[in-house]
Amino acid sequence: MSFELFPRNDPNLRRLLRRQLMGLASYLMFLVPLVYAVNEGWMRMDFSGLAWFVAAACAVNVFFFLAIRSGWTRRFQDPGLTLAQIATAVALALVMIHYSEEARSVLLMLFFAALFFGIFGLGTRQFLLLGTATAVGYWGLIQWEFRDAPAEDPRRKLEVLRLLTLSMIMLWMALLGSYVAGLRQNLRRRNAELAEAMARLRTLVAHDELTGAFNRRHLMDILTREKERTDRFGHVFTVCIIDLDYFKRINDSHGHAAGDDVLRGFTERMLASARKIDWLGRQDVDTTFGRYGGEEFLLVMPHTPLAGARVCVERIRDRVVAAPFETGAGPLEANFSAGVAEHRPGETVAETLARADEALYLAKTRGRGRTETAD
Ligand code: GH3
Ligand code: MG
Ligand code: MG
Repeated sequence: MSFELFPRNDPNLRRLLRRQLMGLASYLMFLVPLVYAVNEGWMRMDFSGLAWFVAAACAVNVFFFLAIRSGWTRRFQDPGLTLAQIATAVALALVMIHYSEEARSVLLMLFFAALFFGIFGLGTRQFLLLGTATAVGYWGLIQWEFRDAPAEDPRRKLEVLRLLTLSMIMLWMALLGSYVAGLRQNLRRRNAELAEAMARLRTLVAHDELTGAFNRRHLMDILTREKERTDRFGHVFTVCIIDLDYFKRINDSHGHAAGDDVLRGFTERMLASARKIDWLGRQDVDTTFGRYGGEEFLLVMPHTPLAGARVCVERIRDRVVAAPFETGAGPLEANFSAGVAEHRPGETVAETLARADEALYLAKTRGRGRTETAD
């Protein structure tokens, strides 16, 4: 397996790593005005100092890139470490600003570039924290730089103006950031609601209301998929139509509600059996059971040849007749007839189902309570 710097199968990680590259680009972008300022002598730094800045910027980004890429940052609530990254950028900007002379007012924009990085990742509190830290950091810097200067030094007054402006803009960015954070949160909530609604809808669309088993529509989807797989890989699958015997009698003698109870009880027992029965020693086979319509049910058995399917259906019958079903009209016994057909290569799903139906008809005419197979 080859190593991917930007893993294709993890879009979240990819996004974070791309953002890291953008971060590096925004550092390097400042090289243009910095080179200009150094060249004009507006910085207390020469090009070797600038080389240190570039090295530091690269080192910081490589460090964060590796921390994210290795998966180490997954343990944090924000695996992109946005807050730490911006704090680092602000610290670097403070250092550069310390070495600036005439270029200082322009270099203050470094702060805004760093803070802007957080607009899509930080909340209100984090933004306020960063803005405050930046303003306090700048205040500390000028206190230190002017520690020996007299109080009425005009350059100190200019710094107060810069600090005031910086604080205002930081506050403004915090407000803007919190607004965007609110929008993001809203979007996330709505996405979650939508995903939940979609999941609910998908369940509704695929399930039968009375029994909770898969409905006919979903069974047909499954059959189509199973046929495609069979055509491609050549394995077999078998279908079984199950029809409850003398069900009309149950309705007529005990009421429709009792009939419903039997349908529900039968489904419960079927689902439990389909799960528990060892499908011919295969653990990886997912059998699918659903309500085909009325008191008819369908069982789809992948990787199962005709003879095996017959054995499985008889095992299910053992469980169905083992005890009566609890209904509102007392315990009621029920049995079923079943028609089994193995899908033939080249045949349509409808043709397979028609053969299973013929086998079911045979089971009915041969006395009910039995399973017949289509040849
Ligand atoms: P057979 O042994 O030949 O299958 O006889 P049967 O009485 O089971 O078959 P028939 O097709 O004559 O009757 C099926 C009955 O199933 C008729 C219908 O009212 C009933 N039925 C269909 N859907 C439901 C349902 O959702 N609830 C209830 N309680 N009965 C239903
Ligand atoms: Mg019927
Ligand atoms: Mg019936």
